[in-house]
Amino acid sequence: MKGKTALVTGSTSGIGLGIARSLAARGANIVLNGFGDAAEIEKLRAGLAAEHSVTVVYENVDLTRPPEIEALFARLAQAGIGVDILVNNAGIQHVAPIESFPTDRWDAVIALNLSAAFHAIRCAMPGMKARGWGRIVNIASAHGLVASAEKVAYVAAKHGILGMTKVVALETARTSITCNAICPGWVLTPLVQKQIDARAQQAGITAEAAKIALLSEKQPSLEFVTPEQLGELTAFLCSEAAAQVRGAAYTMDGGWTAQ
Ligand code: NAD
Repeated sequence: MKGKTALVTGSTSGIGLGIARSLAARGANIVLNGFGDAAEIEKLRAGLAAEHSVTVVYENVDLTRPPEIEALFARLAQAGIGVDILVNNAGIQHVAPIESFPTDRWDAVIALNLSAAFHAIRCAMPGMKARGWGRIVNIASAHGLVASAEKVAYVAAKHGILGMTKVVALETARTSITCNAICPGWVLTPLVQKQIDARAQQAGITAEAAKIALLSEKQPSLEFVTPEQLGELTAFLCSEAAAQVRGAAYTMDGGWTAQ
């Protein structure tokens, strides 16, 4: 991947950071994106660049705003940076029954978990076509394949992104651009820690007990998937060995969707 550039959305934390590390380790230059403490992000950026001798830039872009996504691609193009690998990873969750699901949370989850990927792909595609190569990896979820109660926006967005993945894969089928999705099960990141904490509080149990309860409900392995494992799967999908993997939804979910 030397000489290629990967934009990994939502890579200041969790799964996105694991993916950025795996791609940088294979020589890809990285565009980091996401929110967080400016000093921490700079430390991360500089550390990743030094450890792997690659160029790492940080783009503080709110992906729920399509004009900001367009401006990001224009800025990168102006700086001579083409996005060869696009990983649509940034995502949020909101948990509530449908009758009390706040409409602004519906809009926010759809905007980030679904629409942002559409905008990023449409902005990245002309450059990938011009350079004759590209890899698009959409981080969906087990919730792209099956549902859980009280996650209407998330499940709708994740099912949607699997449909988008197939359409893009068909539109690029005769090119060296591929588009695939990964469907992780539970990964212990800040996104899931919030759900564990809420569960512990509701049930009056410890966070450790809530963690075990969460896994027991869905994930037969009773072990979390790790950002490192997801990073390695992403790197495979970006490799030449995966050139004919097109429109796939790869599960890495400890057996969740095998049930
Ligand atoms: P996380 O909360 O650790 O990280 C989310 C990242 O997105 C952060 O870098 C955050 O700053 C960024 N982000 C949030 N809002 C943004 C916005 N408006 N614009 C730009 N960036 C924004 O979450 P995670 O668990 O690493 O999740 C990453 C992806 O993996 C999500 O799409 C999530 O749905 C998916 N996923 C997570 C799990 C899990 O168990 N953690 C399971 C399946 C799928």
